[in-house]
Amino acid sequence: MTLSPTQEQIINSIDDKANLSNWKDWKWQMRHSVRDLDTFETLLGIQLTPEQRKAFTDTVEKFPMSITPYYLSLINTDDMKNDPIFRQSVPSPDELRILKGDMSDPLHEDQDSPAPCITHRYPDRVLLLVSNTCPMYCRHCTRKRKVGDQDTIPTKSAISKGIEYIRNTPAIRDVLLSGGDPFLLSDEYLDWILTELRSIEHVEIIRIGTRTPVVLPYRITPELTAILKKHQPVWINTHFNHSREITQSARTALAMLADAGVPLGNQTVLLSGINDCPRIMKSLVHKLVRNRVRPYYLYQCDLSEGLSHFRTPVGKGIEILESLIGHTSGFCVPTYVIDAPGGGGKIPVMPNYLISWSTNKVVLRNYEGVITTYKEPDSYEPTFCDRNCDSCDLMLNLDDADETKAIGIEQLLSDYDQTISLVPASNARHSRRKAED
Ligand code: SF4
Repeated sequence: MTLSPTQEQIINSIDDKANLSNWKDWKWQMRHSVRDLDTFETLLGIQLTPEQRKAFTDTVEKFPMSITPYYLSLINTDDMKNDPIFRQSVPSPDELRILKGDMSDPLHEDQDSPAPCITHRYPDRVLLLVSNTCPMYCRHCTRKRKVGDQDTIPTKSAISKGIEYIRNTPAIRDVLLSGGDPFLLSDEYLDWILTELRSIEHVEIIRIGTRTPVVLPYRITPELTAILKKHQPVWINTHFNHSREITQSARTALAMLADAGVPLGNQTVLLSGINDCPRIMKSLVHKLVRNRVRPYYLYQCDLSEGLSHFRTPVGKGIEILESLIGHTSGFCVPTYVIDAPGGGGKIPVMPNYLISWSTNKVVLRNYEGVITTYKEPDSYEPTFCDRNCDSCDLMLNLDDADETKAIGIEQLLSDYDQTISLVPASNARHSRRKAED
C-alpha cells in the first residue's frame, strides 16, 4: 500500500517525520483525529467562508466532531458539498434544526435499561454498551445524545454490573456489544469483557457493532483478530453507507476478520443526499458481498434530534428494495427496517408482492411485473397446538441428530449394533410375510 497524494499532504501537515507505518497505526490515527476547524482546514488545504465557519462552530458546540486522518483523506475536496464522506463526517448547521416529533432518545434505549450499560428490549438478547467514543462521530448517529460525552463513559464497574445482569438472566442467549465503538477499547479490556461473557453458559453468541472497518480500518490488527478467534462464535456488524467507503484498506480489514472466521454483516442507514439512490445502493451491496460481508439491515433514519436533514420518505427505501429484490442475488438484499419510536424494536417493511387471496389461491407479482397464482392445498389439517408437545403428532425432537449411530454396511460391520441384515423396503418376500401375519 502507498499513500495517496491527499494522504501524503495530510500526514506531512501533521508531522513531516511520520511515515506509512505511522499512518497505518490506529493509535496514531486516533491521536491525530481532527476535532477543530483550523486543523480541518490545514489538513485539507482549504479555506471555509466566514459563514461556513460560524455554522460549523455553532454545531460543534452541541454535537462534537472527530474525524480520523484516514477518513478525512477520502473526502473529495473538489465537490465537498455532495461528497458522501464529507456529509457523514463534517458538522452542518442543519443539525441544530429540531423538528416537532424529533426526540433525543427516540428508541427509548435509556428507559429499557434494567441495569447499567444494558438495553433489554427483545426477549432473548441485550445491548451491552461498553464505550461511548467513536473514531469518527457520524453526523447521522442515532445516539448523538451520548457519543463523545466525557461524563457518560461506561466505567469498568458499570460494565461489570451489566455483565452480572446478563449472568442472572438465563433467557439471554445473544449479547450485542455496542456504544460508541467497542473496538476503541484496548485489546486487553475487550478480551476481559469477552472472557466474562464467555463464562456465562447461556450466552450462545456475542455480536459486536463497529464502524472501525469504515473509518479506522487499521484497528483490525492480527492481535485483535486473535482475541476474536479465541471467543468464537463472535459476529461482527459493520456500517458502510456508500460504496466509496470500501477502499483497499477497508478491504484488507474485512479480509482479516473473515479469515479469522468472523461472520460479517453490514448495517446501512438510508441517508438523504448520501445513498438515497438505487444505483448507489446496488453498487454498495455488490461490493460488500465481494468482500464477504452480508448486507443485513437497511435502516430508515431515526427520529433523533439533529437528523431531520438526513431523513427520506419511507417510499425511497421501498423503491431501493424494488431495484434489488429479483434484480440481484437474494443474499445481497438487506432487510429494510424502521426502528419503532418508543422502543417497539425493528419493524421490517418491503414492497408488496401479494396482490390478492382467496380460500385456495393467492395472486402474486414478481419483480418484473409478472402476475401469477399459487394454488394452495385443497385440504390442510392444521395441527392443533396447546403447547403440550408430548402429545403432539409432529416429531418435535430438537436434539442434535446422533452422529455416532452407524448406518448401512457400516452398521452391519460394527460390533455394538445387533442388526444382522438390511432389507430393501420393496422386498417381495418380506411383503408376503407381512400379508401372512
Ligand atoms: S460509529 Fe456508530 S455510534 Fe459512533 S458515531 Fe457513528 S453511528 Fe454513532
